[in-house]
Amino acid sequence: MINDFTNVGNHPALNFLNTRLIKKDQRIELLESFTDIECWLDAFGVLPYMEDLTNLSDQDKSILVTEVLDVRSKLEEMVDHLMVGQLPNHLWVEYMNDKLRQNAGYDRLIINENKVSIVRSYSARNLVGYFADQTLRLLNDVEHSRIKKCSSTNCIMYFYDSSRNMSRRWCDVSQCGNRANASKHYHRNKGTNT
Ligand SMILES: [Zn+2]
Repeated sequence: MINDFTNVGNHPALNFLNTRLIKKDQRIELLESFTDIECWLDAFGVLPYMEDLTNLSDQDKSILVTEVLDVRSKLEEMVDHLMVGQLPNHLWVEYMNDKLRQNAGYDRLIINENKVSIVRSYSARNLVGYFADQTLRLLNDVEHSRIKKCSSTNCIMYFYDSSRNMSRRWCDVSQCGNRANASKHYHRNKGTNT
């Protein structure tokens, strides 16, 4: 298990999409097992909203891993469409509506220290509904032109650019940004020497 979950996506759906990545030219899968999914939910503070997790059988868990990865690939398909100014097609919409219908969450009331809050919860068997909900929110609630892919050619991370002038280019300036600058610097210096 690799716990490499980051908030570079700046949106739950994009953080979920970023669970497959490229490191040293190798594609890496961060959600290989149900435990990885639990870790992801925990890392982003939503694990407490999945109910009856302990009642899942091993078979349930392996079905859920397949389902979650399936929703992730549909999310990637949607993001690829949005990046070129298109909406997903009707088959995609039918698929997502099915997932939402079969895995509906429910609002739960919490009163803590005199404060009322409502949190969307899911029965563990329907936890894929959380990822479908977040996919829908990305589609419906944000400016599509702010959804971007990292500018590094060998990076497949996506993020929601919330900067005022929409200038964000990298998933992580200290990683991809630095690498790109170092490479530009190298080529520029090489150019002046020949
Ligand atoms: Zn990157």
